[in-house]
Amino acid sequence: MDFLPYGRQTIEEDDIAAVAEALRGDYLTTGPKVEAFEMAFAQAVGAAHAVACSNGTASLHLAMLALGVGPGDTCIVPSITFLATANCAAYVGARVVFADVDPDSGLMTPATLAAALARADGPVRAVLPVHLRGDVCDLPALARLAAEAGAVLVEDAPHALGTTMDFGAGRERVGDCAHAAMASFSFHPVKTIATGEGGMITTNDAALAARLRTLRSHGMTRPPGAEPWVYEMAEPGFNYRLADINSALGLSQLSKLDRFTARRRALAALYAQRLGPLSDRVAIAARPAWSDPALHLFCVLIDFDALGVSRAQVMQRLAEAGVGSQVHYIPVDSQPYWRAHNGELDLPGASAWYARCLSLPLFPGMAESDVDRVVSALEAALRP
Ligand SMILES: *Cc1c(COP(=O)(O)O)cnc(C)c1O
Repeated sequence: MDFLPYGRQTIEEDDIAAVAEALRGDYLTTGPKVEAFEMAFAQAVGAAHAVACSNGTASLHLAMLALGVGPGDTCIVPSITFLATANCAAYVGARVVFADVDPDSGLMTPATLAAALARADGPVRAVLPVHLRGDVCDLPALARLAAEAGAVLVEDAPHALGTTMDFGAGRERVGDCAHAAMASFSFHPVKTIATGEGGMITTNDAALAARLRTLRSHGMTRPPGAEPWVYEMAEPGFNYRLADINSALGLSQLSKLDRFTARRRALAALYAQRLGPLSDRVAIAARPAWSDPALHLFCVLIDFDALGVSRAQVMQRLAEAGVGSQVHYIPVDSQPYWRAHNGELDLPGASAWYARCLSLPLFPGMAESDVDRVVSALEAALRP
């Protein structure tokens, strides 16, 4: 039996053909596929602008640069996320204040943001909520709190491409930036669509989009009316461009977004059904009422101590049964770098999430029988 990883890409023949076509074209890097991918992505999420870049970490860095976040500024980042969400603040010399999360959803909440704002001494420039697993934070409430503090909301949204939500004013899509200045995405192979490495930032602010594009390519601009070879640099940018080859793959993958997300939703629903009989041992990560997620991760919460079996043992037994699993995430504030900078924090929601979380396989190529296989392997693995 094949080993089931916790996540993997779905690459089909037409994706391969799209890349081959780009390879035969005139542009390997900045070419027509980049712009076509950006336009299609903006339309898919309902944003005015989308700026492609080399990966999801570069997109977060560009977002910080475009906002002018720098030394003396503070960014608020949830404790439960990938390293990159906090690293982007470190790149620009900003301080990070870590917010706690809800112990059952893993998400930053208005209460945990308010507590983090109270702990920040000094101006908070940016708040970076993470739509962990694919479920959406309470964006209107987070946006209100951020605005009151004079901070800008930047969604770190790589888990939530295809997620929709309804805060009482109709259906919205993650990435439409109705509540935030920008939203950041990644196309790493485990994410909802894959380009190899790749990222995207969406925004409804034309000036921000222009800054992002300039910073993505060395800070170069072409003054209007100047000679054709002339470029100017007002501030040093980076080479964070996405290649035409990757964009061709992204465009092809994006055309399958509805199918991929429908499959993720169907598999998650099947998991919920099959895990029903295990509900005394296994809880599914809590879903906020407004969220209709296209889950990137299927996270369950298990009280390993109460069951008398360690998470490492459970993961080992699952692996022996051919089932991959993963932990999302180690609280970022507990990393040596952040401990050295911020000291040891007491974030009980993040600790409770981290102690219990386990991500089970979820990707469009899974069969329904794979869900059964995972659930029976988990049931067996949880026996003391
Ligand atoms: C994947 C991910 C990133 C970084 O994306 P890369 O493309 O791997 O650089 C940032 N934040 C979160 C929450 C992610 O899951």
